[in-house]
Amino acid sequence: MDVSIKFLGAARSVTGSKYLLEIDNKKILVDCGMSQGKKELRLRNWDKLPIDPKEIDLVVITHAHIDHTGYLPRLVKDGFSGKIICTAATEDLMQIMLLDAAKLQEEEALFAFKRGYSRHSKPEPLFNTDDAKLVMQLVESHPFKTEVNLLPNVSITFRNAGHILGAAIVEMNLRGNTQQKKIIFSGDLGRYNDPIMYDPEAIRDADILLTESTYGDRLNPMEDVEGQLTQIVNEAYANNGTLVIPAFAVGRSQLLIYYFHKLMEAKKVPVLPIFLDSPMAISVTNLYEKHAGIHKIKVTKDRNELVSIFDAPNIHFCNSKESSKVLNEMKKPAIIISASGMATGGRVLHHLVHRLPNENDTVLLAGYQAEGSRGRNILEGEKFIKMFGEQVPVRCHVREVHGLSAHADQSELMQWLSNFKKATKTTFIVHGEEASATVFSKTIQEKLKWNTVIPEYLQTVELFSGI
Ligand SMILES: [Zn+2]
Repeated sequence: MDVSIKFLGAARSVTGSKYLLEIDNKKILVDCGMSQGKKELRLRNWDKLPIDPKEIDLVVITHAHIDHTGYLPRLVKDGFSGKIICTAATEDLMQIMLLDAAKLQEEEALFAFKRGYSRHSKPEPLFNTDDAKLVMQLVESHPFKTEVNLLPNVSITFRNAGHILGAAIVEMNLRGNTQQKKIIFSGDLGRYNDPIMYDPEAIRDADILLTESTYGDRLNPMEDVEGQLTQIVNEAYANNGTLVIPAFAVGRSQLLIYYFHKLMEAKKVPVLPIFLDSPMAISVTNLYEKHAGIHKIKVTKDRNELVSIFDAPNIHFCNSKESSKVLNEMKKPAIIISASGMATGGRVLHHLVHRLPNENDTVLLAGYQAEGSRGRNILEGEKFIKMFGEQVPVRCHVREVHGLSAHADQSELMQWLSNFKKATKTTFIVHGEEASATVFSKTIQEKLKWNTVIPEYLQTVELFSGI
């Protein structure tokens, strides 16, 4: 058996994860992410893949984030028709996220057409809703900890990665004629002692390892999140104002509800109504109930007593546009959690239009804010924020909370690696900016004495020959 790997994304960057394995004459793609962020990276989505999608036999997905799945509709549009293998929760999340991504693609193409700024006379979306729906026809889900045969001599097992609902580490076993080999794909790794997700599962050995390195160069302690939130909510309450939080629909929104619920139960903050105003976040929240058991939140109804924190009487889900708009008239203290997380779009924009000019209200930024995003501009103290063609004055309080990231930091990545009983043959450092991957690579070499490689975009490496 001959095995090689080609790095089609997330090599010296954090986006567009795609690793193509060639096992004899078969081709397996692990992750199929869209490239996001800088223009140079985004343009890669429009480049022809160096391989014809029709020639790919199977796709394996680690988790549902768009930078790991967002290229699937394009792959299918361009002729891929094999199976897409993932966990059950990833399948459900992917359905929500790919349809949302398709809608965004369609809206952007339409916007470019109307404004006439595209190079093309009729700009096309990268993929549309029909392409995303086709993807879901090909998905086959499997539980964690269960061996799945992909080919007669190749199997995989999903191990819990603790990053988001359904996120997996992929353990791949190869049975050659003379030897057996194991390849581990870390996927994105979560944190230790996260209040909602379980710790990333320990892996004891591998011949080849691909490890993420998003925060390979930094420590990102889970600072006293409860202390920070207690102060912010009490301040907002004392100001008799509303607390508006732009938040990502997957993971972050649910984590915030968890913390607020806990603080209210403990009477550290007053019981305020919490409005989750994002149809996507609401759909995702419902998946925590469907997939109870792969996370720590209690969601079962015990003798008709409400146990799920998401069913608490002060938590309101705003599905309709009308219920969202009604919140603009609200004058009493309350908490509004709404997407998008960096205020680049979504319903949170109309909340910001109403709340930013009001000195009693508070805007809380609860995650990474990319340069140039409205979230970053608010955080940096801009006096006016442009929304819907108007300059909206900022007079409200602006706060920030640290420590809510869903990614392992350097110490946690090293903690996960320390479970390995012996050195891997090669460890590829992927899914990290160049600076982060370089620091992490050196750390592994110094502390574990392992052989590490930071692959280049489109590089091919032979892993095993004649095994
Ligand atoms: Zn991720």
